[in-house]
Amino acid sequence: MICLYFCFTGKNAKQVSQGVDTSLLASDNLFVLTKENKMTSISRRSFLVGSTAMVCSLPTFAAEPENKFDESADVVVVGLGGAGAAAAITAADHKASVIILEKQPLATLRSNTRMSGGWVHCPDKDGNKEELRKYFRALFSAKYADKPSVGEEDDISNGMAEYWVEYTPNLMDWLKSLDPELKGQKFSGPAQYVNFPGAKTSSYASYHLMFPARMGKTSSYNGPKSEATEGEALWRALEKGIQDRSSLIRVIDNAPAVSLILNKDGHVVGVVAKKDGKDIHIQAKKGVILASGGYEYNAEMRKAFLPGPSVGGFAFYGTPYNEGEGIRMGIKAGAALSKVSTCAARMIWAPPVYHNGMRLGVTTVGVGAPGSFVVNALGDRFIAENKIMGGITNNSVYEKAAEQNLDTMTYDNMPAWQIFEEKIFKSRPLANLTRSTVGYGFVDYGASDNSDALKKGWILKADSIEELAKKIAETSVNKGRMNPQKLAETLKRFNEMSTAGKDEDFGRNPKSLKPLEGTVFYAIPLFAGGSNTKGGLKTNAEHQVLDWDGKPIKGLYAAGEIACGLNRGGAMLTDALVFGQVTGKAAASSK
Ligand SMILES: Cc1cc2nc3c(=O)[nH]c(=O)nc-3n(C[C@H](O)[C@H](O)[C@H](O)COP(=O)(O)OP(=O)(O)OC[C@H]3O[C@@H](n4cnc5c(N)ncnc54)[C@H](O)[C@@H]3O)c2cc1C
Repeated sequence: MICLYFCFTGKNAKQVSQGVDTSLLASDNLFVLTKENKMTSISRRSFLVGSTAMVCSLPTFAAEPENKFDESADVVVVGLGGAGAAAAITAADHKASVIILEKQPLATLRSNTRMSGGWVHCPDKDGNKEELRKYFRALFSAKYADKPSVGEEDDISNGMAEYWVEYTPNLMDWLKSLDPELKGQKFSGPAQYVNFPGAKTSSYASYHLMFPARMGKTSSYNGPKSEATEGEALWRALEKGIQDRSSLIRVIDNAPAVSLILNKDGHVVGVVAKKDGKDIHIQAKKGVILASGGYEYNAEMRKAFLPGPSVGGFAFYGTPYNEGEGIRMGIKAGAALSKVSTCAARMIWAPPVYHNGMRLGVTTVGVGAPGSFVVNALGDRFIAENKIMGGITNNSVYEKAAEQNLDTMTYDNMPAWQIFEEKIFKSRPLANLTRSTVGYGFVDYGASDNSDALKKGWILKADSIEELAKKIAETSVNKGRMNPQKLAETLKRFNEMSTAGKDEDFGRNPKSLKPLEGTVFYAIPLFAGGSNTKGGLKTNAEHQVLDWDGKPIKGLYAAGEIACGLNRGGAMLTDALVFGQVTGKAAASSK
């Protein structure tokens, strides 16, 4: 049974209940999320007939004179990813009615949350909270231990850390409360930034989410729930949480939010969204929560915020629907910005598949594997390859990729190139096929043996290293910069150092040092990038959006990528789920 709680209080309730408002009756249908994961369309007329009694029992809405609302709820959430879902569920659990506006059609929703690896952080509940606090403070601030940095606002970042201390140990319990069948494979041990205080002493643990039928395996988009793993499993649990609260939560899909509605005091009182080409005005009686992700696919914002050639030199492997609209809406409402030029990113492969002129990245497998090395556009190594994928650097090494050569004022690492031996080409798909842009159908990778990618020219192959260098030089992204002789010298030196077991130049992990064998070589371009941008609107610890005077904009909250306060990347899902809950509770409880 579909149960709707709220309806058209934007008009005079008496008029609506008498069914005399013909403009209202003539307009769009309503959309609700059913238990069967279908967007069901209900005509306004039939909905009104069935809900007259409910309308009459609701308090009458006193609109700002200048505003005419088509829809109304206590809380309006913009974006149905992890942050938006957590916010809506929590707001409903605090007795608020909620409208979620989602830009994509629900039937094919592909948020970063859903496309993700599904790792969440959930330290043991009986662990040492003081140690956990130290670790989270270091995670949110540029200062830690005896290595202070400058420019951070500890009052805000420590407050955010405090929410993590409170919420993260309960995160798995909360997710299981949404769907008891959800499982998490537990990984105990030091937290990612092992050198931070508390990393080894806070009983840290992360969980890889999945439903039982696929323990230890991978699944992909839209399969049976019992086989869902990673972000897909997380999404199914969140989706169930929303369906189970359908008496309070309504999803309007295919409806991008375009602007915020402010009253004369500058308080946010609603949202304008586009639905079927028309504007709909939605009242938010208690608050609006912006949870529309980052600006990965907004070329103008990339140019404004990211370093170097930020359109051609960067790539992201998440949803192309994250185009920074929430950030723009917030800015127009007077919001300040924070950490807006930061990403959770490294160096990734991006084939020539474009969205609005920007390459779509793929989750790249095996960068820095034995039998491979990475060079810049000229043919020189510039980094210990193990830093690209692992340890404490894998969410920030994009900064190295986007570095400017201060002698020549050129961006020589954009794109870089992974050079590898035939054994790697033959042993595994070079892109993750189940998650990210390939698993979710944005990039058609073709055969898992890499043969289609080779045929399409996404992977370059040559019978000698000099020949490979020439092929790289001919690409539109290298533009003749690759020097065959230099690349041959780099290969020779890398192989010699690998044979000796020591990388004298960059200190690469000796375990991954192995010479490239054979005479056939392959290459793929590596762009600065990864999963997402991670800053945006400035908030206080509770994630109320702040203006440039540091004052909260009443009625406006932000959670997830759009306002991530983490100083270090990674743990983005956890941040979205924690501050989704925090903002959902705060908005629902606001007076
Ligand atoms: C491949 C991949 C793997 C990852 N793995 C991990 C991991 O294992 N662990 C981890 O911590 N993090 C991981 N991340 C990062 C993490 O998934 C995201 O940062 C996090 O899920 C962001 O959540 P969000 O709710 O802010 O954004 P999203 O989940 O992207 O949701 C934003 C939603 O807003 C919608 N939207 C956009 N604009 C509008 C608008 N104008 N109106 C209405 N709706 C709008 C979008 O369509 C989208 O559905 C990964 C990311 C990717 C892409």
